[in-house]
Amino acid sequence: MDMKCLKCGKENKKNAVYCKFCGENLQTAEQPLTVAFMLKSLFVIYSLIFTAYMLYLAFEKPVQAFVNSIATK
Ligand SMILES: [Zn+2]
Repeated sequence: MDMKCLKCGKENKKNAVYCKFCGENLQTAEQPLTVAFMLKSLFVIYSLIFTAYMLYLAFEKPVQAFVNSIATK
């Protein structure tokens, strides 16, 4: 697995910090990816909370009805 330089398009070693052909910083090229990754994980966390809330709403009424049926006996 080699890393392709975004500036000159030549192959560099996987963990290379700078391109050995043109000197371009290969690490800064990944910054847009990390921002996208952060947004993606925020979205995942938000949808997990939303799903948990939806499950809570879906089970709140049956559980309350069950508790009431026991309490009224
Ligand atoms: Zn390069």
